[in-house]
Amino acid sequence: MGLGHDTHRLVAGLPLILGGVRIEHSAGLEGHSDADVLLHALTDALLGAAGLGDIGELFPDTDPQYRGADSSLFLIEALRRIRAEGWQPVNLDCTIHAQRPKLSAMKPAIKLRLAELLGIPAGAVNVKAKTGERVGPVGREEAMCADAIVLIERMRAV
Ligand code: MG
Repeated sequence: MGLGHDTHRLVAGLPLILGGVRIEHSAGLEGHSDADVLLHALTDALLGAAGLGDIGELFPDTDPQYRGADSSLFLIEALRRIRAEGWQPVNLDCTIHAQRPKLSAMKPAIKLRLAELLGIPAGAVNVKAKTGERVGPVGREEAMCADAIVLIERMRAV
């Protein structure tokens, strides 16, 4: 199993993308890529589960080719690498930490997109959302964070 965590700064007027889904909000996440904090945490969880390092080693934020990149590309490449090592994902649990907007209505769409990206049933994906209780960087709406944990298994035929 592998664990991932990520944080991005929240800036007024930027697009907000969480788990590959565009979310309507007055602010979005700042980063070298599209700053999808959930896909970054998930990519790190996959790489970690297979002992393949981390997202910063694979996709340096100093590399101009990743400027504004769709973070699903990072996830797809991480999956390709873990599959090349004979692994496949089994299930995923994740938590998005965001004071606003309320994400409950968006959770089903995020869940479906994550299942599609990972190639696993929607029932094997769980998406949780927490506020920051108005304290700390999340609670003050300065940042959003995400945690992800994935289980992987050996494919039957390698
Ligand atoms: Mg990141």
